[in-house]
Formats: sequence, structure tokens, C-alpha cells
Amino acid sequence: MSKSKTNHDWQIRKEAAIARGQGNIAAVYIEKADNAEMWDVEGKRYIDFGSGIAVCNTGHMHPNIKRAVADQLERFSHTCVMVTPYDSAVELAEKLNELAPGTTPKKSIFVTTGAEAVENCVKIARAHTGRRGIIAFNGGFHGRTIMAMGLTGKVTPYKNLFGPFPGEIYHAAFPIPYHGITEEESMKALDSLFLCDIAPSDVAAIIIEPVQGEGGFYAASSAFLKKLRALCDDHGILLIADEIQSGFGRTGKFFACEHADIEPDLMTVAKGMAGGFPLAAVVGKADIMDAPLPGGLGGTYGGSPVGCAAALAVIETIRSEGLIDAANRIALIFNKRLTDLQTKYPDLIGDIRTERGAMMAIELVKEGNPDMPNPALTKAVVAEAYKRGLVVLSCGVRGNVFRFLPALTISDDLINEGLDILEDCFASIVC
Ligand code: PMP
Repeated sequence: MSKSKTNHDWQIRKEAAIARGQGNIAAVYIEKADNAEMWDVEGKRYIDFGSGIAVCNTGHMHPNIKRAVADQLERFSHTCVMVTPYDSAVELAEKLNELAPGTTPKKSIFVTTGAEAVENCVKIARAHTGRRGIIAFNGGFHGRTIMAMGLTGKVTPYKNLFGPFPGEIYHAAFPIPYHGITEEESMKALDSLFLCDIAPSDVAAIIIEPVQGEGGFYAASSAFLKKLRALCDDHGILLIADEIQSGFGRTGKFFACEHADIEPDLMTVAKGMAGGFPLAAVVGKADIMDAPLPGGLGGTYGGSPVGCAAALAVIETIRSEGLIDAANRIALIFNKRLTDLQTKYPDLIGDIRTERGAMMAIELVKEGNPDMPNPALTKAVVAEAYKRGLVVLSCGVRGNVFRFLPALTISDDLINEGLDILEDCFASIVC
């Protein structure tokens, strides 16, 4: 078949060739990308406020990462870390163990996707504790495999049609003061699980995103995460921090749970770790990580040498380019501009969330009422943004949250240009 020239042509071919379950937000087919900009097959330029869903934190095609990957490809592309391992996997594990919050000695394992990292946390937690139960939170997102999906607390489009999910999964309310769910209520929900559903002594782990991602970009407060840590300690339950979206400098700390100064027992990392190459890991307290038997964890591609080389370059770049500070600088610019936008549309922009670095969002409502979500407007603004050359993503259990995840290497000028486009989108849709 001859090479299609337009986005439309590619979309027709895509719809014929790729099942609808693997949907796409926009019929925009990317030809090339550089830092926080992308160009489609028709030559149209886009400012990227999505970074491939929080993956390219170091921007597209960062020269350090390109060089590291090219060097690795001069050596070899795959041997399987479980057969004949290599230096970069060991070095990366050492770096992750050192970077993970807390002082307890750590160990890591490598897998390929975020969902796999979550699955492996469950295996490790069960092997270590000999317990069965896993508690997750409403609105949480942990991946699309069956166990990870069971842990996910958002039904459409993730869970409907796919059950039954594995047993021994329990959900509690995630504290969202904007929606009237206080920390006390969340703690009570956990108490109630312990009274009505599962004894705490049967619970292997509680898994939480320190900042909920797909569920709507809600940060768990430091106080809540500390309470959760204490509750886990009281009952011998492991605390798993899912840092797949919030990690690698995104929130203005290397990992989001550092905001609360807590040490999780196990932590998942993926996305931003390898700047676009498929790599994920579980990092955790060494004695817990060593519970499974040799061969019980892993996978053919886990810890690909190309991914490990990229991740080492990502970590070095985050440090050498001050990207953690950059996340906070970006948040300040967004906060000012989004506050101005809210002043213009107070009934429509219910909440601005920029307190966790460059993991930012606005929640769109009607009549300024948190209980009146506005998914239709969210959808319309997203569609208009693509037309005007801005890549943005929505999220939220109610589909009414706009999330902003620009590369931490983005320039101030590009941020402002992107936010000008967003403002124009609102102006053109809201009369
Ligand atoms: N956990 C979180 C917090 C995520 O944001 C995601 C991906 N959006 C996952 C798990 C699953 O990762 P993957 O898509 O790589 O399986």
C-alpha cells in the first residue's frame, strides 16, 4: 500500500487495521518531534502539553538520551537480563535504589510496562507477607492487565466488559477535599473495610498513587500519606506507592511521595524513567524484594539494555539540567495563567491544581459547582486545542479534568504560546 499523506488517510487505515479498543485522542500522525514540539505528516506544528502521557519528561529526542541509546546499539540490543545480564541494568538498579525515598537498603527488579510493575508489587507483597488482600483507592489507575485493572478504581472505559477481576481486591475512598471527601472519611473507609470485608492481618498491601493520574490529578496530602504509612506499620501491611505517572521529577521532587516525607515499602516506576523507551521497575526495601524465589519475577524484555541506557541518561539529565526545579518553575507559570483564565470563566473552571510541580490540571464544571462536572466542554476544548496546534489530555473519573504534563525542558515562551492557544480555545467555544 502506498504511503498515506494526510492524517485523515492514516486514520482510515488505522481504524481498519487496529482494533477500536486501542483508541486515539486525535487523528494526528506524528512525523517528527523535538523537545516540546511535534510535527504531523501534513507539516503542522503542535506544542506538546502531554509528553506522551508523562513519558518524555526530558523532552522529545533529548541529545543525551539519543546518544546513550545510539552507543548501546553499537554494542548489543538484547541478551535478556535473566540469561546473560549487563552493566547498565546493574548500574540503573543501583541508581534507583539510591534515589528511592527513605534510608532502608533497597533492591529493584526490571519489567517492561507500568501494569507489569504493579502486578509484580502484588506478587512481592504476597510472597513477603503470606497475606492475600490488596487495598486500592477509588479513582486510582494502575494499568490494563487483569490484576492492575482490578485495582483500578475507574470503570469506563477500563473495567466494563472485562470482568471478572481477581479476588481479594478492596477499594477505599481517596481523599478529595474539592469533592467533599475528607482525609477522615478516607481513613474511616479503611476502618470499615477492616470491620466488614477483610481483617487487617489478611491484607498484604495498600497501593496508592501519591498524585492520582488518570483519576483526575488529585494529590494525596502529606498528612494523609503519613496516616496511611502509620496504619500500614500498625498492621504489618506493605505500602506501595505507584509513582508511574508522578515520578522522575514530574512533581517537583524526584518522587511524589517525597512531598510527604514517607518511605514506601515498594514503589513502581515507569513512563518518565526512560524518556520514551519501554522500561519499568519495582524498587523496594531489600528484604521484601528478596521474598520471591529466583526466577519468580522478571520477563523476556524486562530491563532492556536500550531502556536501561536511556534511563541512566534521563537520571543524569534531570540532575545536570535542574529539571526538578524546572517542574516547580513551570507550575508557577501555569498557576498564574490558569488563575487568569479562571477569573475569566469562574463558572467553568472549578479548580486549579498546580501544587505538585508540573503534574497540573484544571477541573471543568457548570455554575462553579464541583458536583456538576462538564465533560462536554472538556471534550470540546480538547478537540479545539488539537485543531489549533496544542496537544492536551483530559482525565478524571467524570471526564472533566484537563491535565498538563509538558516536558520539564520546555521553554517559558512555549508554555505561554500553548496557554495562549488554550485561552483562544475557551474564547471560541464559550460564547
Ligand atoms: N499506574 C499509573 C499511575 C499510571 O499512570 C499508568 C499509566 N497511565 C499505569 C500504572 C500503567 O502503566 P502502563 O500503561 O505502562 O502499563
